[in-house]
Amino acid sequence: MALRGKSALVTGSTSGIGLGIARALAAEGADVMLNGFGEAAAIAGLREEIGRRSGVRVGYAGANVSKPAEIREMIAHTVTELGGCDILVNNAGVQHTAPIEQFPDDEWDRILAINLSGAFHAIKAVAPWMKRRGWGRIINVASVHGLVASGEKAAYVAAKHGLVGLTKVAAIELAADGITCNAICPGWVLTTLVQRQIDARAEREHRDVSDVSQDLLAEKQPLRRFTNPEQIGALVVFLCSDAAATMTGAPFSVDGGWAAQ
Ligand code: NAD
Repeated sequence: MALRGKSALVTGSTSGIGLGIARALAAEGADVMLNGFGEAAAIAGLREEIGRRSGVRVGYAGANVSKPAEIREMIAHTVTELGGCDILVNNAGVQHTAPIEQFPDDEWDRILAINLSGAFHAIKAVAPWMKRRGWGRIINVASVHGLVASGEKAAYVAAKHGLVGLTKVAAIELAADGITCNAICPGWVLTTLVQRQIDARAEREHRDVSDVSQDLLAEKQPLRRFTNPEQIGALVVFLCSDAAATMTGAPFSVDGGWAAQ
């Protein structure tokens, strides 16, 4: 229960990696504000389940992180409802794949707004609260695509490289106030974001979904297994701990060796 008394906002935490992070922070005693889309009943169920298991307060803010005003409102709501916002995890993210020449303009704008600008607006809004406490942890869920590129992912790769850059700037600017800012760079994690890519490829190539999954791993990750959301959650908890008090401005790969090649 190392994070008892802390409060955390995790964007995009109604599923996948963000949900794994929210669960891990709650298990360490942090009160948690969930965010993301989904059915009201399912979100209410998550709040109840995480709260019951971990004995923490679990709130929900429905902000669309492509809208700066909604992000500011969400930070204010977190501070009011949980008594602060000591930990911010910018995790919400979306993907669209297409060659540059066919890449839809609106998808470019949407991905940059959610995957990059959303993190900027959240950091900007939360920094004054963290400074007041003289302590804060900002963790940006970037991607291995914040370090290297793949074809047909122009917006995603640009946004994630930008997010790694933003991480470094925030780390430098906020260091004197006891606030660290780091990025996590996962390779393949089997969530709906990746499952959609696998399903689309299986359909396109008329192949079995499990064969395509294995190919995906074999093409990119020497260690041929998916990372799971719990493993990302454990890294977030570590980055919030005293052991990581001087770790800042760094991208942490969790990618089965993808970026080492
Ligand atoms: P996911 O689709 O399972 O979850 C995405 C979450 O973001 C959901 O809760 C969704 O409701 C929320 N979301 C989407 N648009 C939003 C918006 N406009 N405002 C608020 N919330 C919004 O995806 P995931 O795989 O868990 O991805 C989480 C993060 O991890 C993303 O930033 C993604 O780029 C990154 N990532 C994923 C992988 C992977 O292999 N799955 C690898 C590297 C990085």
